[in-house]
Amino acid sequence: MAWRNLDNTSVDNRHLAIDNITRKGGAAISIIFTVDDNRLTEKVHDVSLGLQETRPLGMSLADFLSFGNEMEENHAVYSRMIRIATEYDSLKESSYYLRLKEFVDLCIEDPTLYSLDTVMFFFHLRGASIPEHHLEYRFDPDHRAEDLVTSQESMSSFACAIRGFSLSNKNNIVITTVYTCDGLDDLCMASLYHLARMGLRLKRCNNCGQYFVALRRADAIYCDRQSPFRKNKTCKEDGPSRAFEKKAKINTAAKLHRNLYAAKLMLTRRNPDIPHYKESFEQWKLQSKSWKADLIAGRKSEEDYLQWLIADKSRR
Ligand SMILES: [Zn+2]
Repeated sequence: MAWRNLDNTSVDNRHLAIDNITRKGGAAISIIFTVDDNRLTEKVHDVSLGLQETRPLGMSLADFLSFGNEMEENHAVYSRMIRIATEYDSLKESSYYLRLKEFVDLCIEDPTLYSLDTVMFFFHLRGASIPEHHLEYRFDPDHRAEDLVTSQESMSSFACAIRGFSLSNKNNIVITTVYTCDGLDDLCMASLYHLARMGLRLKRCNNCGQYFVALRRADAIYCDRQSPFRKNKTCKEDGPSRAFEKKAKINTAAKLHRNLYAAKLMLTRRNPDIPHYKESFEQWKLQSKSWKADLIAGRKSEEDYLQWLIADKSRR
């Protein structure tokens, strides 16, 4: 067995050659999905559409699941595939997409549900299987595995290769998993399967609400996208300060609400003969209740609520 140092170019050429190969069902292999476990990256290569993109692992699936009504403005790689290949026209409404999202949401809501077993059962329910895949090895020319073995005359090159590999530092070898996918469904399955195999979780960002993969830290709560609230910051940078500001606003509002409540109560008690005070207090209590319901439902912001209380205070 000969040792080969595969560089990127030769790998890509090999992939391009797959363009003309068809699988059992006769469908063309259209997407090559390559995962690098060490670097935590993925490469999505749609051969027929000529699209190729390398991103953090799981990011393309996370973007795909984050599609909202602004799907057309989404520049993520899956989105571009959908736009180019008309077969995915109504994908957003397809039971396939909705079930995938439902499954991921279930696992986010109840993290104990998420495991490779559950993902495989989900595949079973969808009649899906793990897309065809194989491993590729790229060796650093300066750390050739067979150099680690003191070659003896009796040792075959095959034995030398196996022994060398077992002794080598795996950090010096780029090992990638290459999935060959028939379409976007397959690509999603490959991505979901690989994430589950590595024990990596899909989550929703506490700042922007979009899906992301907790790659470096399992307890991550913010994604690395640009924050929708501060353009020069990522969610990871912006999230904690926004959460702090939000908490501070809630505290200020709660304090102000308590003071206003006490003042209004005192006014009604001291003036039992003026019914207007009591009526306006009752009305204010109802308004407060409605504000709180709006805050919980996300219809109004903490800042809006605070401004309402400040305006109320200044009227007194
Ligand atoms: Zn985010």
